[in-house]
Amino acid sequence: MRLGIDLDGVVCDFNSGWMELHQAEFGSELAPEMVVAWNNLHELGGFADMRAFWAWAQGNADRPSIFRHLEPFADAVDTMRTLRDDGHRIVIVTAKPRWAISDTLRWIADHDLPTEEIHIRYQKHTVDCDVYLDDSPIVLPDLLAHRPHATVCRMVRPWNTPLEGAQDISDWRQFHSLVMSLPGGPGSTTAESDLRDARTPWLG
Ligand SMILES: [Mg+2]
Repeated sequence: MRLGIDLDGVVCDFNSGWMELHQAEFGSELAPEMVVAWNNLHELGGFADMRAFWAWAQGNADRPSIFRHLEPFADAVDTMRTLRDDGHRIVIVTAKPRWAISDTLRWIADHDLPTEEIHIRYQKHTVDCDVYLDDSPIVLPDLLAHRPHATVCRMVRPWNTPLEGAQDISDWRQFHSLVMSLPGGPGSTTAESDLRDARTPWLG
């Protein structure tokens, strides 16, 4: 199956990352548990608005953007590797500002994410997947509306709420169990791809 995986708040711990940088620069005492709403990070960080937050997040000549500073959540990378080895295709579907694209690609490489397919866009439903895993209270309803035949999974976070039709996922072990429980098993799409790759390993 094609597994559409979001990055921030799902694979990488965005809040711990920016708070660590914030503490280093401003001496603040922030903790990820303090984030209980969507789009109010500027209030925690003492910025005038989210535009000011993102301007700081973008970094400067002395440091790269916050997207290079993030750590993966527990079990995230290992579980994706297991799912890939089980025959599924990991499709990264992430929304980023344009300035964050290079650092996002570097981060994916730094952590050797088991993916051959990366989509950076806000309209995530335009990427066809069998299963989606996301934490955004904006993206999840959009996926449910546009992909009625897909399994849409909500990574449970304080900034999202249950949605009719979405599967609630608390951690990566639970996500693995859910994927294994779905009909279809290891995807035929990937099997065909592997066969083709085995025959023509030199082709890009
Ligand atoms: Mg996210």
